[in-house]
Amino acid sequence: MRASRITISCEPQISAEINARGLPEFVRGVFPAAQVELRQDWAFADGDRAKALICGAEGARRAGDAWGGGLGAVDDGPDGGFPAMYDGFALCDAASETIGAWPGPTHPDPATLHVVFTGMLSCTFEEGDQRYHARTLVGANPFLVSLQGIVEGPARPRGYYTERLAGLYAAAMIGGRARDAGDAQAKDAKKYDYVTRGDCRMPDVARGYLLQTIAYFETGEAFCQDDSCRMYNAHWQSEVIRTQVSSPRLCARHRGMVDKMKV
Ligand SMILES: [Zn+2]
Repeated sequence: MRASRITISCEPQISAEINARGLPEFVRGVFPAAQVELRQDWAFADGDRAKALICGAEGARRAGDAWGGGLGAVDDGPDGGFPAMYDGFALCDAASETIGAWPGPTHPDPATLHVVFTGMLSCTFEEGDQRYHARTLVGANPFLVSLQGIVEGPARPRGYYTERLAGLYAAAMIGGRARDAGDAQAKDAKKYDYVTRGDCRMPDVARGYLLQTIAYFETGEAFCQDDSCRMYNAHWQSEVIRTQVSSPRLCARHRGMVDKMKV
């Protein structure tokens, strides 16, 4: 393996949510040659968070109201409010500096892959539509995996947005709190499946994205074109659930890649 060592860092407050303690064993199950280290005490410094902040929760709430949740599909944060949005690349830069300052001969080390799990919503700016978009994965090494990005990045079923918008209009007509009504209408439907914070499926999804970071580091290839493969770049929540939870498997090519790395 190119990565002689894989260091997984995780904020303490999301450790249980992704079952972080099981991550090293999971990685070793797929890549027996990997040396894996888990740090469950990762935290961005307040100054780094402030520098990376694009939009606070209140601003994200207003943008969500104005566009019906269209700002990268920004929705509820873990506390029921809109999550603040952070620049993913700024967070990666901050992580890189922190990792570089770690003691020990292996840090920084180009043969060490660093993956940082965060609860913060990471976003990147798209020149095409001049908007920020929620991102699940940002960077290369270190890689940032955002749990809130898993919730907000891949799109929910089309009907969810239609019903939510209908709720927004209805609430606007009666002068109520538009967003609350829109959410309630969409959520009451309960017919739309998507991953949420605290979801019991989150550990499986987190493991899938961790595999993607390792595959990218090893091969330089981003994602898989096969939409049944765990390395597939899911654009829809239904694809996330299918490839990472209900039918998590690797395509023949990626199975071959993993087998080669076992020796
Ligand atoms: Zn594949």
